[in-house]
Amino acid sequence: MMITESAATATSAVNDDFPYTDERFADLQMLRYQVPGFDQLTLRQKKLVYFLSEAALSGRDILWDQNGRYNLRIRQLLEAVYVDYRGDRSAPDFLAFTTYLKRVWFSNGIHHHYGSDKFQPGFSPDFLRQAVSSVDPTLLPLPDTSAGVPPTPQAIDALCDLLFPIIFDPSVLPKRTNQTDGQDLIQTSAANYYGPDVTQAEAEAFYLRLKEAAPDPAHPVMFGMNSRLVKKDGLLTEQVWRSGGLYGKAIDHIIYWLQQAHDVAENELQAKVIELLVDFYRSGDLSTFDEYTIHWVEETAGRVDFTNGFTESYGDPLGLKASWEGFANFKDLAATARTETLSANAQWFEDHSPVDPRFKKDNCRGVTAKVIVAAMLGGDLYPSSAIGINLPNSNWVRAEHGSKSVTIGNLTDAYNKAARGNGFQEEFVIDDTTRKLIRDYGDVCDDLHTDLHECLGHGSGRLLPGVDADSLKAYGSAIEEARADLFGLYYIADPKLVELGLTPDAEAYKSQYYTYLMNGLMTQLVRIEPGHIIEEAHMRNRALIAQWVLAHATSPQATGNNRQTATSSTGNLAAVALVRREGKTYVQVNDYPALRALFGQLLAEVQRIRSEGDFEAARQLIETYAVSVDAELHQEVLQRYRALNLAPYKGFINPEYVVQRDSLGTITDITIRYGEAYDHQMLRYSRDYHFLPLVND
Ligand code: ZN
Repeated sequence: MMITESAATATSAVNDDFPYTDERFADLQMLRYQVPGFDQLTLRQKKLVYFLSEAALSGRDILWDQNGRYNLRIRQLLEAVYVDYRGDRSAPDFLAFTTYLKRVWFSNGIHHHYGSDKFQPGFSPDFLRQAVSSVDPTLLPLPDTSAGVPPTPQAIDALCDLLFPIIFDPSVLPKRTNQTDGQDLIQTSAANYYGPDVTQAEAEAFYLRLKEAAPDPAHPVMFGMNSRLVKKDGLLTEQVWRSGGLYGKAIDHIIYWLQQAHDVAENELQAKVIELLVDFYRSGDLSTFDEYTIHWVEETAGRVDFTNGFTESYGDPLGLKASWEGFANFKDLAATARTETLSANAQWFEDHSPVDPRFKKDNCRGVTAKVIVAAMLGGDLYPSSAIGINLPNSNWVRAEHGSKSVTIGNLTDAYNKAARGNGFQEEFVIDDTTRKLIRDYGDVCDDLHTDLHECLGHGSGRLLPGVDADSLKAYGSAIEEARADLFGLYYIADPKLVELGLTPDAEAYKSQYYTYLMNGLMTQLVRIEPGHIIEEAHMRNRALIAQWVLAHATSPQATGNNRQTATSSTGNLAAVALVRREGKTYVQVNDYPALRALFGQLLAEVQRIRSEGDFEAARQLIETYAVSVDAELHQEVLQRYRALNLAPYKGFINPEYVVQRDSLGTITDITIRYGEAYDHQMLRYSRDYHFLPLVND
């Protein structure tokens, strides 16, 4: 599972002059991330990170081919034009072509990485055909170029005839992953996880049969996870992704680097983990994969860690086949110490919370979420990355062996730093004093609120005996997120945090209170389409808390619209209000300590609802405060946000690792270089990690 939003935990000791933002095109903003702490690793650890980084990049072609059967050919065609076009490189057609290629690189294919719709090129087929025939033909994705025989004009024409409908015709392969209920999801998805003549019904029946025949139904392997399902002579069969099988050429390179990593592992268990992964890549045996993930979960002593392989199944409309990703990282010791401090004091927080003692845990253990530093992103984590990861995905492995939950501190930090100076705070925060508060304390408190939410909030409280954990049904996840958020909001203002050295002073929490309410009441609406309601659980949770507090912040005698005035009719200032200034709406906080009391009050009620399984009260709370959107305010927020012209999606350019060797070839040090351009990095990866044939059938 991936966490793709909300604040995770930032790392310390980063250089603030670092150029976090890079180029912007279409709906994308490229960012850079630093790898703080790499210098302090031992040489052995640096080597381990480096070898795992190479393994993380070596499977790049696998993902491209998984995302669509023509992607590798299209990539090479586009790159040939990009590097060798001799026409006017400032003409509108070529500029539109450049934007298209940059989007294709970003998505690892011709469909949008998030929405999964096919890109519509802003240039004509005529332009591309003319451009293709003008470049060095040996650069083109043609079978006979490798033999040194120059391709004929007819061969180039045939190539264009094959690929142009895929690129230009909006009705051909329009979606990578179609989720529209009622259609054949496999036939209508461009993703290359099933043969072109396999139907959804056939695939479902195939995997149902496998599941029913499983020898140990309590511990099923993840059927179908590492293969393409195709028809051969009318019979369904799996082409397994393994050494010697489909994608074997890239997998052999991954295995090579994993073996290098194995030789510099930090401990025996870590070496065993890598060994099992190599075994899995060799055999394709899914029970070996389970064994590998169990060992991986148990290995927590090493500083360096990784994921490498077929991992998340968001790209398969049936949710079975896993896309390839690679990730090298190491533990952020300072930030992890912070989560350990919270966990060590879990019982104190439980005992002092404002909830009814009947709903508290007698024996409360916090969860230690590991904060990590990303060292290399690859496959489906590049360039668009998660900021938190929770693996493995196998349900029984999670239930019996647990999971690793990590937040990627340096990526969150890059997001935060890139957001500085983009005009967002200036537009939506009410005044300079509050902006200063956010500037001084915002990052620290965001991280801390996430830590409180993850390490303590979710783990606090208990169900009354006999209460079914699922009794809140569809309202359950929003209520659960609200419970964790409220726990964090209540405690972030507690003097205990200053005492534990987690907040710098007793003022810091105010920044979190302001940004939380501003987000819940106003700015999170930028992610909702006009006329739509709030559906996503985390967004409902934030709306619930903010709207409830707003409604209860006014004294009970107050009447009238609290959007118009910060003063109730009795003349008392409400703790928080929405006010209008020069035609714009702002959140105004008048009484921070009163907000804390309100968060505590709502926490007590939400915990009661959860502990008693009070479905009706959950429904009331959510439906009253968390679903509907004030259309007028929504429109205003969208307009103000649009005027800032911010890119909705962001991705990362990787650092480069520079290996120093002595005269015998022995590695003496590894250093990091930043600053590689986006197009340079993509072309370098296409040159150095292009391990698969253009057609993989
Ligand atoms: Zn949560």
